[in-house]
Amino acid sequence: MNIDAQKRILITGAAGFLGSHLCDRFIAEDFHVIGMDNLITGDLRNIAHLFKLPNFEFYQHDVSKFVHVPGRLDYILHFASPASPIDYLQIPIQTLKVGSLGTHNLLGLAKSKSARILVASTSEVYGDPLVSPQSEEYWGNVNPVGPRGVYDEAKRFQEAMTMAYHNFHGLETRIVRIFNTYGPRMRLNDGRALPTFIAQALRGEPLSVFGDGKHTRSFCYVSDQVEGIFRLLFSDYVLPMNIGNPDEMTINEIALEIIALMGNRSNIVYEKLPVDDPKQRQPDISKAKLILDWTPKVSRKEGLEKTIAYFKTLPQEELKQKDF
Ligand code: NAD
Repeated sequence: MNIDAQKRILITGAAGFLGSHLCDRFIAEDFHVIGMDNLITGDLRNIAHLFKLPNFEFYQHDVSKFVHVPGRLDYILHFASPASPIDYLQIPIQTLKVGSLGTHNLLGLAKSKSARILVASTSEVYGDPLVSPQSEEYWGNVNPVGPRGVYDEAKRFQEAMTMAYHNFHGLETRIVRIFNTYGPRMRLNDGRALPTFIAQALRGEPLSVFGDGKHTRSFCYVSDQVEGIFRLLFSDYVLPMNIGNPDEMTINEIALEIIALMGNRSNIVYEKLPVDDPKQRQPDISKAKLILDWTPKVSRKEGLEKTIAYFKTLPQEELKQKDF
C-alpha cells in the first residue's frame, strides 16, 4: 500500500487488554498503528507480536504529560486508563489524571492534527444504577467521594471535556461507554470477576463471590466489543454510545458456569461486598443496533472457552501469584 495513503491511528493504552486487541484490528485493516502506553497496568507481551511489523510503532509514555506524535494522524483512540477496581483503588490519582489531563492532552493533539478521536468511557458513569437496563439517556447514580469515584468521575469529566471540544472547536469526537468486556489478555489478577474465578478454578481453589452473589453483570466478548468500537469510530454518531452484551446474569450463575466449563470440583465461598459495588449492570444497546447495525455475536460458552484456553497458556508461576 502507498505509505502516504495509509491511514495513521494513535492508540493509547496499547499494551493493555482492549488496546492491544484494537492494535491487532487496525493492523489487520492495513492502518499504520502508533501504540502508546506507560505500562502502569499494561504488559508488552500483549503487543510483542506487532513489534516486527513495519506499520507498527510504540512509544512508552505517560499521556497525562504532554503528548507529541510526529507526522500526520487521522484517528486517535484514547484507551489509556486503569480499568479494574483493584487498579484504580491502588493508583487513584493517576486514574483521575489520565481521565482528565490525559484526555485533555489527546483532545489537543487531535485538534492540532485535525484527527477524529474516540474516547473510552465506561458503564461506570451510571454508578450504582437506579434503572435497568441503562440507556445512554440515564444520567447515573455516582458517589463522587466513594472509593470508585476516582474512576467514575474521571470518565464523566472525560465525556464532558470531549463534548466541549466537539461543540466549541468542532472536533470530530466519538464516545463509547464500554460495559464489562472479557477475553484473552485480561490480567489474571486484576480483581475482575471473570479472571479471578478462572484463576481460582485453575488453582483448584474455591471461587470467591462478593456479597450474596445475587448482583448482576453482563459480559461482552472482546471481539464483539472491538467490532462495536470500530463501527462507532466510522459512524457519524457523536453522543455517547453503549457497547456491551445485554445478556445479564448473577455472579453466582457465572461462577457456576465457569466451574462447569472447567470440569473441576471448586465450590463457592462468600466474601464481603466492596463499598459502592453496583448491584446491577445491563446495557440498553438499542442505539448500537439501530445506528451501527451491531449486536454481540459470540456466545458466552465460546467466549469463556477461548478465555480459559488463554489463561491455561500462562506460566505456572504467574498462575500461582495472587497479587499484581
Ligand atoms: P488495561 O488496564 O488492560 O489497559 C489500560 C492500559 O492503559 C494499560 O496498558 C496501562 O498501562 C495504560 N495506561 C494507564 N494509564 C496510562 C497513562 N497515564 N499513560 C499511558 N498509558 C496508560 O484496561 P482495559 O480493560 O484494556 O481498559 C482500556 C480502556 O477501556 C480504559 O480506558 C477503560 O476505562 C475502558 N473500559 C474497559 C472496560 C473493560 O471491561 N475492559 C470496561 C469499561 C471501560
